Amino acid sequence: MAGRTLGNRSRTIATLAVGVVVGGVVAGGGYALADTKAPRTDRQITNMTNEVSDIKAYYGDTVDAQGEHWASPTSNYANQVAGIEKDAKKYLDNRARHDKGKKKKAIVLDVDDTSLSTYNYELETTFVYNPAGNAQYIATKTMPAVFGMNTLAQWAEQQGYTVFFVTGRPEAQRSYTAANLAAVGFPTADASHLYLKNKENPPAYLPCGATCTTIEYKSGTRAHIESLGYEIVANFGDQYSDLSGGHAGKTYKIPNPMYYLP
Ligand SMILES: [Mg+2]
Repeated sequence: MAGRTLGNRSRTIATLAVGVVVGGVVAGGGYALADTKAPRTDRQITNMTNEVSDIKAYYGDTVDAQGEHWASPTSNYANQVAGIEKDAKKYLDNRARHDKGKKKKAIVLDVDDTSLSTYNYELETTFVYNPAGNAQYIATKTMPAVFGMNTLAQWAEQQGYTVFFVTGRPEAQRSYTAANLAAVGFPTADASHLYLKNKENPPAYLPCGATCTTIEYKSGTRAHIESLGYEIVANFGDQYSDLSGGHAGKTYKIPNPMYYLP
């Protein structure tokens, strides 16, 4: 993996052109983009304060009485996601009605910022990911659904699709993840429908074992789902690493300008 691993994932603010030290943590992009040419002048770099302002405006930043930040359902982010969901629904509807094949049909969803919104967490941490703090957040808080993804997943299930979740969250976060998905209206994320990254006891179907990159882990897990007799008709993710590596059907990229994961 090109980036420095911070717990179960590496990350950086997506728009940074070079690695920087933020709050004592070296952002992973500094490694991933190590061969990127250094900006010749500061004018080639988006000012980070302005970038954060843009992100908040895009998500329709709303502050509640407790001072918590949330995305707005009328934001440009919500509108953009709704457009992607509309396209996906049309495609899935068409496939469900006109292509009654022999195989069981499925869709695959990533969790963070595809099914569940981490916007509140990102604002709480000023976009600096920390594995321990993230685990604590996941154990104690309920993330809202990414606007409309819960109803899309429920609808797909009613059309006969089996809904699988494939996440880079560690196996230790299984119960919190399943409970959060259920609490905000997703189809059942029981043991046979929710795949988490298990570095301690990697499954035999992943030859890369404990050292899988995200693309290897996710595409290998999708290949395993196919081996169970499913056709993956559509795959939804907010990172390109959620969508690469094949075994994905039609891919839908959910917007996420907050961070980049290789
Ligand atoms: Mg994600």
